[in-house]
Amino acid sequence: MGHFKIKELLRKPISLFAFSCIISIGTMLLYNLPFFNYAADNINENTVGKIFLMASLVVLMLVINFMMTYLVMFCMRLAGRIVLAILSIINATAVYFIVTYSVIIDEISIGNVFNTKYSEASGFFSWSLWLFIIVFGVLPALYCLLQPVDFGKAKKMGICCGSSFGIILAIALANINQTLWISQHDTELGGLLQPWSYLVNTIRVTSIQNHKQAEEIKLLDGKITDNEKAVVVLVIGESARKANFQLYGYERNTNPLLSKQEDLKVYEATSCATYTTAGTKAILEPKDSGDLYELLPNYAFRTGVDVSWRTSNWGEPPIHIDEYITKDDLGAQYPNENSNYDGILLKGLRERIESSQKNKVLIILHTSTSHGPKYVDKYPKEFEVYKPVAKNVEEGEKNVGMLVNAYDNTIVYTDFLLDSLVNTLRTMEDWKSAMIFISDHGESLGENKMFMHGLPMRLAPKVQYEIPFLVWTSEHFRDYKAKDKLPEVLEQHYIFHSVLNLLSIDSPAYNKDYDIFN
Ligand SMILES: [Zn+2]
Repeated sequence: MGHFKIKELLRKPISLFAFSCIISIGTMLLYNLPFFNYAADNINENTVGKIFLMASLVVLMLVINFMMTYLVMFCMRLAGRIVLAILSIINATAVYFIVTYSVIIDEISIGNVFNTKYSEASGFFSWSLWLFIIVFGVLPALYCLLQPVDFGKAKKMGICCGSSFGIILAIALANINQTLWISQHDTELGGLLQPWSYLVNTIRVTSIQNHKQAEEIKLLDGKITDNEKAVVVLVIGESARKANFQLYGYERNTNPLLSKQEDLKVYEATSCATYTTAGTKAILEPKDSGDLYELLPNYAFRTGVDVSWRTSNWGEPPIHIDEYITKDDLGAQYPNENSNYDGILLKGLRERIESSQKNKVLIILHTSTSHGPKYVDKYPKEFEVYKPVAKNVEEGEKNVGMLVNAYDNTIVYTDFLLDSLVNTLRTMEDWKSAMIFISDHGESLGENKMFMHGLPMRLAPKVQYEIPFLVWTSEHFRDYKAKDKLPEVLEQHYIFHSVLNLLSIDSPAYNKDYDIFN
């Protein structure tokens, strides 16, 4: 009977006016409650002012969505239905992530979507997400596709859209005194507004990426000033946060090996961003810049250093060197080794360094050990020190302790990897050597219901940008600056200048203030 009624309903055409009203109200109720929730929490007005502003936002949203639906449907017909259907599904997905992970859809998170490989993104896909998408995305999409609509005349379209535009203008003028409030909260409001959040930000990301294809800005030529054999191994951590390192005072024994390692220096540091592409860029560039300057590996390579990049990660800025090796390449080269974990990046490293034709070697290991949402998949079983563990962030939301256990195991594994690296370098007596470990950014593990990373810096909690910065050097390599000669908290740009010093590169790009050595 119900089935029959739905069939009847879908057979009878409704006016485009009515259809646009339904879509507009549906979009607001299904996809924009987080937006109004945020707005209501952040309006600093008296009750009357608050009601007025909230009412204005509601009407404004209804009218804008009504007008856009009307236009898209009238001009594009079937193509318009398809656009609306696709938007419903993306809207549902966006809302799921907003509600589940407290993310904000801005140009950064959209950029991360484009930079994330499917294998990693698939870690996010769970039954609850599929169910959510079916109920709040696919069903509305079917409605957009199947509801018969009487499109009406162009004149009616003109009247509907014209008066909508008039209402939008009137509301905007009535609230002109709110421009300051809006500009103070634009990131958050815009990031919660569906479908505009991802439509606008996708356009922004695409235009930024086109811009970034531009040549990097070359640094002035440098030169290697001695013949001493020296190797620097720079390990870029992934989502490793300072708070969970025993070396920084964490109550758990997450650094059982490094804490016994002599000559290890432990620096306070913060990342310049909370996501991989920007964090990695900041580690490799000479200074904070919206532009793309020649990066450490590229510059060292051009100056005559033997540079090798080994990675189990992605999202790095453009690297122009001869030897770029992925974990899959290493897996093929060492078929008996398990290439699922970052240990593969250390394989054959000693032989690689010792067989170099150059006196200066720079190895960069771009690791992924603490990358969520499935921390448990990032370390071999024997490093599962803390139990029980959550399979992924979603399970961890119900039991944060289990999520922290899994995360802490990734730190224990990182501890093992860095320790073995130092031990290898120690035995290479013909070489002066250094190991530097720094993370691209931190991670949220359920504090204030936040997970993962990627919030804009001014909203991000400390755990998302307080990072470990560890340095070990072989005897008589370089003298460390006294800690009182350095700021209390270092930034990621110290890497570039300190590594130039270690590799004896004399360069106009070098800034001694950003060097941890004398
Ligand atoms: Zn990262």
